[in-house]
Amino acid sequence: RMATSIRNLKKEYVLKSETVRALRGVSFDVPEGDYVAIMGPSGSGKSTLLNMLGCLDKPTAGSLMLGDDDISKLSDDQLAEIRSERIGFVFQSYNLIQQLSVVENIQVPLYYQGRLGADERARAVMLAERVGLADRLDHRPSQLSGGQQQRVAIARSLINDPFFILADEPTGNLDSITTEEILGIFDEFNNEGRTIIMVTHEDELADRSKRIIRLKDGMLALDEVVPEERRDA
Ligand code: ADP
Ligand code: ADP
Repeated sequence: RMATSIRNLKKEYVLKSETVRALRGVSFDVPEGDYVAIMGPSGSGKSTLLNMLGCLDKPTAGSLMLGDDDISKLSDDQLAEIRSERIGFVFQSYNLIQQLSVVENIQVPLYYQGRLGADERARAVMLAERVGLADRLDHRPSQLSGGQQQRVAIARSLINDPFFILADEPTGNLDSITTEEILGIFDEFNNEGRTIIMVTHEDELADRSKRIIRLKDGMLALDEVVPEERRDA
């Protein structure tokens, strides 16, 4: 039901004098509960792929199925709806709203749907507790450390019970101890069956996932299961 399927995905950017083929026919499936690291050198197409997976942009050709929905066939409004209801975003820069408290930030994806009742607040509080912020519910982002802010972002990413968490260099601004804590939270949620798709430059991070997909020149260069002993190392 919650599987993601990519078939012969292509994306071209048309510039004045040339066409850039950012993705040149990429195919893979992400079953529910997977934990995928997307790697590859600068310019290999990672951001482009992330934008497709996040429904921020549509493919030039090929299909991207999120469950029963083919992204390439949806209107911009439908894409915006799927984006807010079915995908959890975690960015390197946290992207929290400074004027809102921890609990309010976690509820932000619900604003678009006008769902702000007591049940939703209770769920936000539960998620704040799950990521270790039980005693920070009414704090503002400026009163939190980077690691704590990223915990808020992870809780926010889960408020809508998404298809997957899409994490773009999620620990890029964090020191190694805090990185370990954030990866621990991802592990916990993944062990509960949450799907995680993470873009990273770092081998150590990628080795914590279950599977590494490596892009090169807009093509899939590697799709590798991470062996248990490497995950635990
Ligand atoms: P994006 O993936 O968002 O298109 P890039 O791949 O160019 O952007 O890089 C994102 C950030 O990571 C940039 O700040 C860039 O300087 C940095 N970066 C790029 N390549 C590497 C690398 N191999 N190792 C570490 N950092 C990198
Ligand atoms: P990565 O994230 O791995 O660095 P990108 O997906 O950002 O790779 O880029 C893949 C290719 O597409 C690169 O050649 C890049 O210059 C080009 N590209 C990305 N976004 C655009 C855009 N909006 N317009 C034109 N070319 C783009």
